[in-house]
Amino acid sequence: MTIQWFPGHMTRAKRQIEEKLKLIDIVFELLDARIPASSRNPMIDEIVGAKPRLVLLNKADLADEAATAAWSGHFRALGLETLAIDANGGRGISDIAPRIRHLLREQTERQISKGLRPRAPRALIVGIPNVGKSTLINRLAGRSAAATGDRPGVTKGQQWIRIGGSLELLDTPGILWPKFDDPAVGYRLAATGAIRDEILPVEDVACFILRHLASSYRGALEERYGLSDLPQELPDIPAAAEVLEQIGRRRGCLAGGGQVDYAKAAGVLLRDLRSGKLGRLTLEMP
Ligand code: GDP
Repeated sequence: MTIQWFPGHMTRAKRQIEEKLKLIDIVFELLDARIPASSRNPMIDEIVGAKPRLVLLNKADLADEAATAAWSGHFRALGLETLAIDANGGRGISDIAPRIRHLLREQTERQISKGLRPRAPRALIVGIPNVGKSTLINRLAGRSAAATGDRPGVTKGQQWIRIGGSLELLDTPGILWPKFDDPAVGYRLAATGAIRDEILPVEDVACFILRHLASSYRGALEERYGLSDLPQELPDIPAAAEVLEQIGRRRGCLAGGGQVDYAKAAGVLLRDLRSGKLGRLTLEMP
């Protein structure tokens, strides 16, 4: 598996964000609550530097609540203000403004002590493709301000979106790249739909995820596919492939000669996972 981001591409993306950083007071770092580490750009600290930052664990509606609480604790321990949100449904959105006020209180006090009237803070949303940047912009703006879609860079032109009197948001988010030298990170990104299905063999993604589900969410797996006696642990890929085969049989994913079509079975599993039909799941822990 070799998936490469060209160094030139990374440099350009980094430079574009650094240009935007000059214009703003606070960064919203958007992560996928189901894979907070894998959806994080490893160079983010270097890119954001000393700018105040709010970590937003988005798609919390799809993530395991206890795991999200553990991740929030993890980021707070790193000194990062963190909030779990659901940009689609709106949960947690109203907590953003008070968090910003808290984060920027010193800056505001300085402005007041200089006799200046504090202006609405300016914010930039950054995150990898598909993490929900456009959805969050629309949600904050309360209208369809940004085009949502799964292509990076669908938004055009650079404008400020005024959000009440409390915030000004740059309408073009900063697009970060995921880094997946580690195959596990690639599988998690593929499983959540952050990278295209064509990039990694879908059966491999399914087997990787099955191993995690069997150890952490066995009940959900058994219930959804009518499986029984799943082992506590799937020690290797062949063991996971056996479970995938059972799922394929249950779901009628058959190729010629009554053989299970593994790619089809993997598709069923991944669709169920992404749409929440397997329940609320988190694919990695701090
Ligand atoms: P962007 O590429 O970062 O701008 O991501 P988009 O805003 O286009 O969102 C990608 C997909 O994730 C879309 O199908 C959204 O509907 C979905 N999405 C975004 N936020 C949430 C959320 O909080 N919960 C759920 N369940 N889906 C979300």
